[in-house]
Amino acid sequence: MAKPKVAFYWCASCGGCEEAIVDLNEDILKVADLVNIVFWPCAMDFKYDDVRKMKDGEISVSFINGAIRTEENEEMAVLLRQKSKIVISFGACSHMGGIPGLGNFWDKESIFESAYGKSCPSVDNPNRIVPQERWQVSEGELTLPKFYNTVKSLDQVIDVDYYLPGCSPEPYLTMNAIVKLLSGDLPAKGTVLAPAKALCDRCSRSETKPEKLSIKKIERVATLQPDPEKCFLAQGIICMGPVTRFGCKEEGDGRCISANMPCRGCYGPPPGVKDVGAKMVSALASIVGLDGEEEMKEEDIQKLMDQIPDPAGTFYRFSLPTSMMRRKRMTSEEN
Ligand code: SF4
Ligand code: SF4
Repeated sequence: MAKPKVAFYWCASCGGCEEAIVDLNEDILKVADLVNIVFWPCAMDFKYDDVRKMKDGEISVSFINGAIRTEENEEMAVLLRQKSKIVISFGACSHMGGIPGLGNFWDKESIFESAYGKSCPSVDNPNRIVPQERWQVSEGELTLPKFYNTVKSLDQVIDVDYYLPGCSPEPYLTMNAIVKLLSGDLPAKGTVLAPAKALCDRCSRSETKPEKLSIKKIERVATLQPDPEKCFLAQGIICMGPVTRFGCKEEGDGRCISANMPCRGCYGPPPGVKDVGAKMVSALASIVGLDGEEEMKEEDIQKLMDQIPDPAGTFYRFSLPTSMMRRKRMTSEEN
C-alpha cells in the first residue's frame, strides 16, 4: 500500500519549528518509515512546482509553521491547503502570529525604517535603499514577494484542521499527532493537539501561588535571582502560567519553569480563554492588592502596574494577531 504523503513548510518563522522536526531524533526514522515526505524545502531540494503539479488532496497531512507576513507565505499556504486533506498549524507563529506578530504594533514603513534606515545604528545605508517588489537589472526584472503591513495567523488565511502549539512544539506532541492522524482516529476539527490544562495546574510551585499578592515592586529575572521553589508571581515576576496551555514538557513543570524562568505564553491559551492578554490582566487584577495585611490603595496599584515593562509586548508576546486588538490602528486600508 502506498504510504501517506506528508509535507512540511515554513512561512514567517525563525526555523525553530523545522528544528523541532529534526528533534524527533531517531523517531524521525519511524516517521520516514510511516510516510512519504513529498515537500520539505528547508531540508531537501523540493520546488514549489512539485506541489503545483500534485492533484488536489494528494498530500495526506501538511504541517505549516510560521506566520503569514508576505504574499509568498500566503500563496504557499493557499496552495498547500488545496493539495492537502489535513492541514496542521504547527507552532506558535502559525497558531497565533507568534513573535513576528509583534510587528502588528507597527506597519511596513516603520519596520523598514527600523531595519534599513537611520534608526538602526548598525546600518550604513545613506541612500535609504529598501527592498523593492520589482527591480530592473541588465539581465531582466528581479522580484520579491510583497511584504504585508499586517501579520496573520495561518487560520486567518486558510482553513486549518488542527493546531500543534508551542515555540516550538515538543517532539512528543508531534510524534503523538503523526501517529494519531495516521491511525485515522481523527479528533474533532479545530482541536489543539496538546493537554487541555493551564500550566499552573501542573506547576510544582502552584502551592505558593498567592490568592492575594503583596508586593511593592514588579521584578524581572534580570533584576532578581528567582527563588526556584516559589511561584514567580509571588516574587513579583510576571509569569503567564495562569493563561497558558500546558504541553511544553511531557512530565513535570513547564520548560521555562524547570529552568527557573517564568512562562512567556508560547503554548497559547488553554480552553475557554479567548484573549490571552486581557485574561492575564484580569488574573493579575484579581490577585494584586495587598500592602502587608492592608488593602492596597488604587493609586498604589496603578503605580505597581506601571512598572510592568512593555505590558502589550509582555501580555501579547505570541498572540497579538489573534487577539481582540489584532494590530495597531492603521491610517491606510492596505493589508
Ligand atoms: S504563575 Fe507560573 S510559577 Fe506560578 S504556579 Fe503558575 S506556572 Fe507556576
Ligand atoms: S513554560 Fe511557557 S514559554 Fe516556556 S516553553 Fe512552556 S509554554 Fe512556552
